[in-house]
Amino acid sequence: SPQVGGGPRASGGTLTATSAARPLVVLEHVDKHFGDLHVLKDVDLTIHAGEVVVLLGPSGAGKSTLCHTVNGLTPIDSGSITIDGRPLPTTDRGLADLRADLGMVFQSFNLFADMTVLENVMYGPVKVRRRPRAEAEEQARHRLARVGMLDHADAMPAQLSGGQQQRVAIARALAMDPKIMLFDEPTSALDPEMISEVLDAMTDLAESGMTMLVVTHEMGFARRAADRIVFMVDGAIVEDTDPETFFTNPRSERAKEFLGKIL
Ligand code: ADP
Ligand code: MG
Repeated sequence: SPQVGGGPRASGGTLTATSAARPLVVLEHVDKHFGDLHVLKDVDLTIHAGEVVVLLGPSGAGKSTLCHTVNGLTPIDSGSITIDGRPLPTTDRGLADLRADLGMVFQSFNLFADMTVLENVMYGPVKVRRRPRAEAEEQARHRLARVGMLDHADAMPAQLSGGQQQRVAIARALAMDPKIMLFDEPTSALDPEMISEVLDAMTDLAESGMTMLVVTHEMGFARRAADRIVFMVDGAIVEDTDPETFFTNPRSERAKEFLGKIL
């Protein structure tokens, strides 16, 4: 079985079958309050390289807050977070570097409205990674093709449907070659007929081996794409298990209740 923590490391740090389970995101005893509200309660969570973790839970459980702590948008009160073995940076520069390594796709469409689709996807590689424009453009076209949006490279975001905008947002995040992709309810604001095109793009990404943390209410996707389901209620992780177990035989009453409402 994979050696995770404590086990002897492969000699010289070379990648071996065992290091497939390399921990990329590690939260230990993370606590967060907003005023009197205890939003994250002693959260322990490890996401390994290549793993797809789907975070489920009722509204207000703290799912978005958890995502925002991972990319440094929300500072924690206590506990620790490490990304690829390094503590979360504290300087502005360090945080900017961290965010460049974490692709984030939110519920609301967050494309630059005054740039074409292609320019949106090229922006990070050119401005942050300092890649030559020609190289960035070629790469951007590949990313757009991957999410089925190459035909719209010259469109402005406002000309696109919500589903198309989210697919461009995914391409834009991928253009930075992120170590991890975070998705916070990426289909919640979409009309029903557009949800599947975005979930399909996310499923492709999951199958490509991308490390992903996904907050969603799409149970079909969760069951199909997740390696693990993490279920949160009131700021605490209540279950952390494989999808089959979670959906067919959840341990906690809270999970049974949640599934009863949502399925
Ligand atoms: P979820 O994403 O699971 O719906 P959130 O992480 O958004 O939950 O919110 C968890 C709790 O923290 C909620 O009660 C929410 O109202 C509260 N909350 C979130 N962000 C803030 C904030 N910036 N200031 C105060 N309270 C907040
Ligand atoms: Mg949320």
